[in-house]
Amino acid sequence: MSDFSLELNEDQLQIQKWVHDFSEQVIRPAAHEWDEREETPWPIIEEAAKVGIYSFDFITQCFFDEAGLLMPIANEELAWGDAGIGLAILGTTLGLAGIAANGTPEQLMEWGPQCFGTPEKIQMAAFAVSEPDAGSDVSSLRTRAVYDEAKDEWVLNGTKTWITNGGIADIHVVVASVDPDLKSRGQASFIVPPGTPGISQGQKFSKMGIRASHTAEVVLDDCRVPGSCLLGGKERLDEKLARAREGKRSTSQAAMATFEASRPSVGAQALGIARAAYEYSLDYAKERKAFGRAIIENQGIAFKIADMKTRIDASRLLVWRAAWMGRNGKKFEAGEGSMSKLFAGETAVWVTEQAIQIMGGYGYIREHPVERWHRDSKIYTIFEGTSEIQRLIIARAVSGVYIP
Ligand SMILES: Cc1cc2nc3c(=O)[nH]c(=O)nc-3n(C[C@H](O)[C@H](O)[C@H](O)COP(=O)(O)OP(=O)(O)OC[C@H]3O[C@@H](n4cnc5c(N)ncnc54)[C@H](O)[C@@H]3O)c2cc1C
Repeated sequence: MSDFSLELNEDQLQIQKWVHDFSEQVIRPAAHEWDEREETPWPIIEEAAKVGIYSFDFITQCFFDEAGLLMPIANEELAWGDAGIGLAILGTTLGLAGIAANGTPEQLMEWGPQCFGTPEKIQMAAFAVSEPDAGSDVSSLRTRAVYDEAKDEWVLNGTKTWITNGGIADIHVVVASVDPDLKSRGQASFIVPPGTPGISQGQKFSKMGIRASHTAEVVLDDCRVPGSCLLGGKERLDEKLARAREGKRSTSQAAMATFEASRPSVGAQALGIARAAYEYSLDYAKERKAFGRAIIENQGIAFKIADMKTRIDASRLLVWRAAWMGRNGKKFEAGEGSMSKLFAGETAVWVTEQAIQIMGGYGYIREHPVERWHRDSKIYTIFEGTSEIQRLIIARAVSGVYIP
């Protein structure tokens, strides 16, 4: 176990600088263009793969950081450059998290590297849970997985929606119901390997923010995957279903296990956007003159800056605590993972709005990035569990009361 320290070690500092430099030199200059184009920024992902940021090795290195801080650090730095492009690079890690949380070590070693491919042949992964009638309420998923014993294959049918990298991913990790009567306890995760017939992209969504990140429906129509694609294996699933049928406590739920692991990283992305907006508006406030003085000389502006910085630092502390706890096997007794995502997400929305206000008219036009950062920030109160759902998780954890 690693002691908790706020002082980054040499390795962490070096990686932070490396990712930051990439973000500053490659991502940020391209951010406006890809936001306008609303397309996956393949050339930037290729660059990230070439330098090694988009790779299974790098993500594994982050994951194995003893303090657990490298993952949030990398997420913060990439989103600081641009959250949409950052997510185009990081979306694959959601699929990977789905495999890591529910799969066996052998499955992780087989599929993990394939999620990224190689710099010569980039691959992507997606994690598909949400459906048109099941977003926050994951227990009502309709996508079905039926076992064909004769062929040792699973047959998947259903429609997933709002899936990051949906349809363009090579590997889709799909959460489906094996026994609908058992609600979320009757669900399992499946790998849909590259080139599998029966999986296709439905509608691609045009969004308010993070527009360089691809979001689309995924349609599963008699999509057959080998028995070995059931994450965790059949024996473990049968045991889990038997326990659920007997009304015994469950140890994990397919979708929840993944979200629990990824929340601090998502919070870190929000933090990256907030920091970008804070830095930009602070510089502006020192430069911009009104009534014969720099606008920061007004308490009304200076106090905004003070509050922005305070909330950003508080967000980072919550994110780092949750990341350290997750990496060191600490139980989230008070919903600490949810706290980090909730606070960082809402901070990003608030800070980016303050940044627009500080910049006045210049904050509202597309010549400056703060209006984009505000649009980008809003998703962080919605995906990976809305702010309301995070509050539910925290309230249940601290009160011991089941709040529906
Ligand atoms: C850009 C984008 C990318 C996404 N990427 C992915 C992805 O890669 N994979 C994936 O599986 N999903 C993804 N999602 C889906 C996302 O996780 C869901 O949108 C989110 O979980 C909310 O579900 P919903 O939209 O159905 O809202 P609903 O669940 O319908 O909620 C609507 C409103 O009601 C509130 N609400 C619902 N239940 C309660 C309650 N019990 N108490 C209080 N308030 C409540 C919610 O907080 C929200 O404000 C993505 C979504 C977007 C927009």
